[in-house]
Amino acid sequence: MMGRKLASVLTVEVGDKELLEVVVMILLNLTPGAAEIAGIVYETIMLKHQCICGNHSNHPEHAGRIQSIWLRLQEKGLVSACERIQGRKATLEELQMVHSEYHSLLFGTNPLNRQKLNIRKLLAHLGSVTQNFFTALPCGGLGVDSDTIWNEMYSSSAACMAVGCVIELASKVASGELKNGFAVVRPPGHHAEESIAMGFCFFNSVAITAKYLKRKLNIGKILIVDWDVHHGNGTQQAFYNDPKVLYISLHRYDEGNFFPGSGAPDEVGSGPGEGFTVNIAWTGGLDPPMGDVEYLTAFRTVVMPIASEFNPDVVLVSAGFDAVEGHASPLGGYKVKAKCFHFLTKELMTLAKGRVILALEGGHNLTAICDASEACLYALLGNELDPLPQDVQLQKPNSNAVASLEKTIEIQRKYWKSLRQYPSKVDLSLNDIQSLDREEMETLTAMASLSVETKHRHSQEESRTPDEPMDEEPAL
Ligand SMILES: [Zn+2]
Ligand SMILES: [Zn+2]
Repeated sequence: MMGRKLASVLTVEVGDKELLEVVVMILLNLTPGAAEIAGIVYETIMLKHQCICGNHSNHPEHAGRIQSIWLRLQEKGLVSACERIQGRKATLEELQMVHSEYHSLLFGTNPLNRQKLNIRKLLAHLGSVTQNFFTALPCGGLGVDSDTIWNEMYSSSAACMAVGCVIELASKVASGELKNGFAVVRPPGHHAEESIAMGFCFFNSVAITAKYLKRKLNIGKILIVDWDVHHGNGTQQAFYNDPKVLYISLHRYDEGNFFPGSGAPDEVGSGPGEGFTVNIAWTGGLDPPMGDVEYLTAFRTVVMPIASEFNPDVVLVSAGFDAVEGHASPLGGYKVKAKCFHFLTKELMTLAKGRVILALEGGHNLTAICDASEACLYALLGNELDPLPQDVQLQKPNSNAVASLEKTIEIQRKYWKSLRQYPSKVDLSLNDIQSLDREEMETLTAMASLSVETKHRHSQEESRTPDEPMDEEPAL
């Protein structure tokens, strides 16, 4: 049946480009539900970025992270429910969409190629670099710092692969070939700045992908949500002047005392990009730590109103899972449940016709990051988890969270109309909000029926001829 259909389409005489496009569209539509499938990407070359000391306990960002996530997703049958796409290494041209030529050459080529390629240029740049070359670490390995280790043999391949995987996956989602996607990648990227590698990151995969989508696929507006517990200083820097890429980060801030120290609520972008950087900067330390209620409230009162108003064409998520419980203070300290990220993912899926791509960033507690990845992919595949437990629904966000959110709203309401409609609902529980919404609904329905009645009366009055006496006209 389908064969005959195809053949009849193919015998159409293709006279011009337009007709050809129509034929291509028909062929694409015949492919069974390609755009309905979630995509996933993972390549084992990323496992080889390892410190030569070989001791995981020195280096929380190790290969076991993505290996365990991949195993978990396979075990649960989620990988086979997705379309697995082939990753590739990003090209130097792609890296340079965000990073300087020097930075791209230094970290993006292996030592042999690096010498062949452009050693003179590299050396010429040395005078202007802001960062020292690799240093010897106390563990016996090599790195730009003790977090950000470097393996001369494999790190450049792994770092380029992480970027290329996110580009490939996001391109397929943006072009409608896939419904949404999850990238199981490392090393992470959101701390990498134009010419600085730091915090486990060399190349900013999500930022490079956003530039790629804009330049190569002509995507108009891109939302980047960064829910890693650390601020994505590199991503913020890459789009600080850009009104077409909205960067929203939720992170532990503590008045600049938490790594990397950036991401204050009054960092809002500059020039044409003013108002397109949104920092939800949690303060107040761990007294008490932020959890599900605080993150859900942030989404309800800030992230989703602004995101809906921005109305993106694609959503990229810097999906670090170090806010999940199980991460001790220097690398987290919060108590968000893995399952909460299922609900956050579902909310984002209501944007951009569901074109949402999650790329792994931080998180090193293996159980936490496996649970959270599973919960997110479960959402991307269109599945539903049980609703949140009753105690989460009844709990109000803690006062530090309320203060942090009010601060962001106060600063951002100048740029976003949607924030002006939510002045006083930050300190309510989910339950309160639901009953408020119900009340509002009832009021709205009552008002609507009132206005219908009035309209009805009006139209009755209008349809009356001038001489016609009114029904209730008092008798003279
Ligand atoms: Zn080491
Ligand atoms: Zn992090």
